Amino acid sequence: MTQIVVVEDEPSISEVVSLYLNRAGFEVSTFSDGLSAFDSFSKKLPDLVILDVMLPGMDGFSLIRSIRDRSDVPVILLTSRREESDRIAGLELGADDYVVKPFSPQELVSRVRAVLRRTQTKLESPIQGIIQTGNLSINPQTREVIVNGSEILLTAKEFDLLYHLAAHPRQVFSRDQLLESVWGLHDFIDPSTVTVHIRRLREKIEKDPTSPMRLVTTWGVGYKFEP
Ligand code: CA
Repeated sequence: MTQIVVVEDEPSISEVVSLYLNRAGFEVSTFSDGLSAFDSFSKKLPDLVILDVMLPGMDGFSLIRSIRDRSDVPVILLTSRREESDRIAGLELGADDYVVKPFSPQELVSRVRAVLRRTQTKLESPIQGIIQTGNLSINPQTREVIVNGSEILLTAKEFDLLYHLAAHPRQVFSRDQLLESVWGLHDFIDPSTVTVHIRRLREKIEKDPTSPMRLVTTWGVGYKFEP
């Protein structure tokens, strides 16, 4: 059974979310603060985490940072409508998606299913060859990326995005095309997600992230991989 952890300090939200997720066939554990949720992860990682940004003690951002230090478990953030900066910060820290409060529980269930589908499709996707170009090597079987002989740690989405671009060298993709190919459900996700991921990838693989040689912007159109 798919296990979901909900970290939310407002009991009314936590209860309704649990109810809908249970009805949708998920097993749910709830925590009202970040620290106890984090403690539970050291015993067992769930299949997905739903995380409120505003929590007492260890906030959602600290928690997602700690989670990403050791795991690619999918994370959906709950954020407030006013704080766009929160959503960007959350994605930069490695959240897979976010839902803005107030949200309908049914919408959250759809997001959960979409995120799980993306994570699972990844496992089922056919194995393709290693991409080797200059100082960069990308292995889709082991999901390892080597730059100048050292392994670079990427989140699941960063890897998928890099692999998709590198598998189609010099082809320019718009942000919408990348959302559709890499994230799957572009209706639900903000196109700035792509920008954020490209920026993070450049910081990890480019010699000088401010003048990228690999992940190149084609102004007004999108991005391409330069081999
Ligand atoms: Ca809260």
